[in-house]
Amino acid sequence: MCLDIGNSVNAMDVIHQQTKFISAQQKDDVPMQHVKIRCVCLKLVKWNYMHRCLYCSVFFCKTCAEEHFGKTVEQYKAENT
Ligand SMILES: [Zn+2]
Ligand SMILES: [Zn+2]
Repeated sequence: MCLDIGNSVNAMDVIHQQTKFISAQQKDDVPMQHVKIRCVCLKLVKWNYMHRCLYCSVFFCKTCAEEHFGKTVEQYKAENT
């Protein structure tokens, strides 16, 4: 299971914001490989460098994903290959 993303943040709100931001860029004809997603830490990261949580569906940058899952991406990969 993943960890809470913070008391003041609601996962549903974050997903809503992230989805809205992606469709706004698509409307502006931003090519898919340049589409960015805003992480909960407010960093703007290209979508293919973001990690989507399997449980809460929120996108996280690498640093936040590691915090959110309670393990590093390397540990996760080692356990799932
Ligand atoms: Zn999660
Ligand atoms: Zn982040």
